[in-house]
Amino acid sequence: MKILVINSGSSSLKYTLFNMADESVIFAGTFDRIGLEGPTHAYRSQDGNRSAHTSQIRNHGQALDELLHTLTGGPLESLGDLSAVAHRVGHGGKYRNAVRITPDVLSEIRRMTPMIPLHHPAMIMEIEECRVRMPDAVHVAVFDTWFHRTIPDKAAIYGLPYKYFKERGYRRTGFHGNSHAYISAKAAEFLGRPLEELKVITCHLGNGASVCAIERGRSIDTSLGMTALEGLIMGTRAGDLDPGLMPVIMKEDSLTPDDVIGMLYRDSGLKGISGVSSDMREVEAAAEQGNHRAHLALDAFCYKVKRYVGAMLMVLGGCDVLVFAGGIGRNSPTVRQKVLEGSEGLGFSLNEHANHSRRAYADNPVVDISGDASKVKVLVIRTFEELMMARQCMEVIEGKSGREHA
Ligand code: ADP
Repeated sequence: MKILVINSGSSSLKYTLFNMADESVIFAGTFDRIGLEGPTHAYRSQDGNRSAHTSQIRNHGQALDELLHTLTGGPLESLGDLSAVAHRVGHGGKYRNAVRITPDVLSEIRRMTPMIPLHHPAMIMEIEECRVRMPDAVHVAVFDTWFHRTIPDKAAIYGLPYKYFKERGYRRTGFHGNSHAYISAKAAEFLGRPLEELKVITCHLGNGASVCAIERGRSIDTSLGMTALEGLIMGTRAGDLDPGLMPVIMKEDSLTPDDVIGMLYRDSGLKGISGVSSDMREVEAAAEQGNHRAHLALDAFCYKVKRYVGAMLMVLGGCDVLVFAGGIGRNSPTVRQKVLEGSEGLGFSLNEHANHSRRAYADNPVVDISGDASKVKVLVIRTFEELMMARQCMEVIEGKSGREHA
């Protein structure tokens, strides 16, 4: 059973080929800077061979051509070897569990594009191109929202007139479900305790970022909402706002709804505050060199995470494990330290040496950075969203999932 997992971003396309007999990675790669100057394609095979080169690709279709050419020239004899392709999709609307992609599913995904305006167009384009190039494969959509279908109404509803909840289905659906599910299960495995007995707070901090409260293995609240904007300050996204401010700014600056979408999704967050970059490494470096705005962006980012961890602590009524993951959560000791500063009274403490020196890798995906006095286990985990996607895809193929709606 070979499954190809595809995760498409606006200018990137990541892929992983799994052998589901033992869940091993046969081949994995990333196309970056699609449609920009100097696109690249980097990959590694099961035997550790790596390659990285600049590529001529100008769009997702060309990236797929190169991807299929690379796979059939090596790990696959032919595309017929593939059992299925799992596609990452942000929002499936009424669909939450992974499903086979049919015209109905695709039209529901299209309907949700206004909720995920930066990601969905690339995801839809990628699905359409894949269906053309691999007409005989089973195509499965795996939604970022699936893990949060257990969030109760009281946490999901917005304080808007009831019709938006009842008639239009506008509710907080959350994202990064594959990551939150994987890292919470991995934390339980590491501690040798059943997940069902643990209260877990997970912080997935990458370009997109969210915090999640997990009780008995189920998500009961998360910081992202119905769109990809709520909650934390992100790379280029604003996070929580006073909703009253937006009509004021729209009138003052004569902005259209599309201008506002551009501002909130592309020009805000770390990039908007710092004026330096959306990339946390560059923000941290500038802050260290005394750049005031970069310092403020770093502080504001960490403060927001701290605030949400605090909120989730009350939601859960305590916490056994706190997990950091995602590019920032996994790699930035500064961010972890700032998030947990002053929280000793709540049972959190860090082992400073471990926080700075220990890293979570594929071969060693879980690292304990808790201080001796910490009542809460503080872990850094290398997330593996693609594996969660491949597993859900298997369930669809085997008929264990895919019939159920939200
Ligand atoms: P995506 O959400 O696109 O998958 P990632 O999870 O890869 O993103 O996270 C990207 C973020 O991780 C970027 O802000 C990047 O700067 C940050 N990051 C990666 N390495 C480090 C590091 N060593 N220190 C701080 N931030 C880092």
